[in-house]
Amino acid sequence: MKIIYNGMLTERSQISIDIEDRGYQFGDGVYEVIRVYNGKLFTEDEHLQRLIKSAESIQIKLPYTIVEMKKQLFKLVEENKLTFGIVYLQVTRGVSPRNHLFPQPNTIPVYLAYTRELPIPITDMKKGVTAITVEDIRWLRCDIKSLNLLPNLLAKQKASEYGCFEALQHRSGTITEGSSSNVSIVVNGIIKTHPATNLILNGITRKLILEISKKSGLEMKEEAFTVDELLNADEVFLMGTTTEVMPVIEIDKRTIRNGKPGPVTKQLQSLFKDKIEKRCGV
Ligand code: PMP
Repeated sequence: MKIIYNGMLTERSQISIDIEDRGYQFGDGVYEVIRVYNGKLFTEDEHLQRLIKSAESIQIKLPYTIVEMKKQLFKLVEENKLTFGIVYLQVTRGVSPRNHLFPQPNTIPVYLAYTRELPIPITDMKKGVTAITVEDIRWLRCDIKSLNLLPNLLAKQKASEYGCFEALQHRSGTITEGSSSNVSIVVNGIIKTHPATNLILNGITRKLILEISKKSGLEMKEEAFTVDELLNADEVFLMGTTTEVMPVIEIDKRTIRNGKPGPVTKQLQSLFKDKIEKRCGV
């Protein structure tokens, strides 16, 4: 399998990570996950823009332009013959003797990308998934897609131990987002999701759903909601690159609505699918 390592397309087996890579030692870096449908990248511009923004917010300057990165990614997907899957990209502050202080300004960031096959979660999307609520114990810059994912891992692991798909995080009773997804509720036909503040990752899927809703006359508000509103909502759904639009039918062992994906969620799933078809010809 081929990967991109500092701008070169090379065999995965040829690359090793230095023990003093700052991503490895400190989680000092940022990342992105981009979907590939039918061999084509989906919303890659938005993801690459966010990668640059995340990098800049921790003072890492990417040595490539979006155009250059895209060209490399197209080649990578083609070389690996990926039809349905993801591209994972990450950039770290580079290799330098371990020290909390930033290394010399001429340190080269370590940038890599690789592909992985990943089917569309059709069964879950039709049936819906279950979730738990957990306290959001993350830092106050959740808008940066940083490699530091420990709280997210702990939340997801807990969800799994409860037999659930996702952990929905809350700060003092206000829902922020899932461990690896954004979350919306539907109450009386109105869709609500947490505003894009420092407390959540402004998901590309979330942004697309906001756009789709507006265009199709659905009312979607960027307004925070409580755990109580979540548990009593007519519908709940997750949004994310790998999860797409995913109905949540049970939270903390309480059934949402009648335990079946609701009409607004299903409509958004269908509109989202149209978008993929339009861009990737699936
Ligand atoms: N929030 C978190 C914490 C995430 O990890 C993700 C997945 N990247 C999302 C939201 C959804 O973002 P996107 O739609 O850009 O994948």
